Amino acid sequence: MSDRKIILAIDGPAGAGKSTIAKRLAARLGFLYIDTGAMYRAVALWAIRGGVALNDSHKLDQLAAMAEIELAEQGTRVILNGEDITSLIRTQVLSDAASQVSALPGVRRALVDKQREMGAVQSVVMEGRDIGTNVFPKAQVKVYLDASVEVRAARRVRDLRAKGQPADLAVVAQEIRDRDNRDSTRADAPLRQAPDAAYLDTSLMSIEEVEEAILKIYRDRTSNGKG
Ligand code: C5P
Repeated sequence: MSDRKIILAIDGPAGAGKSTIAKRLAARLGFLYIDTGAMYRAVALWAIRGGVALNDSHKLDQLAAMAEIELAEQGTRVILNGEDITSLIRTQVLSDAASQVSALPGVRRALVDKQREMGAVQSVVMEGRDIGTNVFPKAQVKVYLDASVEVRAARRVRDLRAKGQPADLAVVAQEIRDRDNRDSTRADAPLRQAPDAAYLDTSLMSIEEVEEAILKIYRDRTSNGKG
């Protein structure tokens, strides 16, 4: 085996299980886990705190370029300018705000540059919306994770309630539809399946089954004459 760096790209809509699966795969493979959505959430948090309008592209471009974002402790803690913001960014307000700022091309450019730097130094499992299409179009392994809106909303509600946050299924389902719609219709790097990504509908699959399915795809794509 060579010591080449591997990029395992996982894209898909909100609530498809990307984070859960990506973390497990990173631990299994000994790769770094990179949650790119957390980076958009961090920039959105900074903007809200500073009273910056979420459509002020000039100011947001500057914030995204200046933001020092560190994904610590195997990628599970998010540090913005030295402050641990992990517990602050998993809210409905920040999901929506991240989706708004992520439509700004200058914000995307700044964060994609950081993501490419992270993927250049070691093997990574990177999850987001545009990893296989835009950040690393030559990633060796690409997976597009999907599930029905109903299943994704139910998963979100369960996660939010487990964290003690109130959640209504119909409201969460609508929020997911709105966010998917915005993420997949924006002009710059919209949510889309890369032509060479493996498509996996996880609606009826357990976490273990999804993990095994992706490990098989990983093995198929990184061996047999390509390794
Ligand atoms: O994955 P997560 O729900 O944390 O992402 C929050 C938002 O950040 C998404 O709804 C999307 O608008 C944006 N995002 C993106 N590109 C990525 C990752 C996230 O535009 N690679």
